[in-house]
Amino acid sequence: MMVKLAEKDNAKERRRAQAAKLVERKRKRLAAERAKREISDKALLALWREVVALRAGDRCEVCGAERPQGKNGCIHHHAHHIYSRRIYSLRYEPLNGLYLCASCHDFPRVGGWSAHTHPILFSEWVKKNIAKKRLAMLREKSLKTVKRNHVDRRAIREELLAAIEKKKKKKREKNAE
Ligand SMILES: [Zn+2]
Repeated sequence: MMVKLAEKDNAKERRRAQAAKLVERKRKRLAAERAKREISDKALLALWREVVALRAGDRCEVCGAERPQGKNGCIHHHAHHIYSRRIYSLRYEPLNGLYLCASCHDFPRVGGWSAHTHPILFSEWVKKNIAKKRLAMLREKSLKTVKRNHVDRRAIREELLAAIEKKKKKKREKNAE
């Protein structure tokens, strides 16, 4: 009788331990997911913009206009997403960005086009002017849907910061020449 009771207690104890382990595992998983989300989308997009601007040398990639210097006037340059930023697999991908002046981005000059007002003309320009390899990579990645909450923001932040540092170093070396 005593032995049987002890066995029963052991089994109960094991089940309890197992349940506690599951709870602990879930807590850890949720904490890890939360940590990944902690970095704001806004902060990541700001880093993404910086990489795109550095790569373009602060010039519009369509018409070559330099970014207005000094005090911010009404004309800005913008980093434009080639594939919509709603596609999370490409939202923070520097190669999915083009640095554009306000005219080429949104407010076309008379007789001209902009990425937002003339998406078909913009798409023609992209096909003609962007390397085939880059476009193929973007196309493939665009079809690999990532859910918003599954984006590893910490990893992306590290990648973007590394890209910024690399581009800044290159710029310094070029200026020193
Ligand atoms: Zn332009």
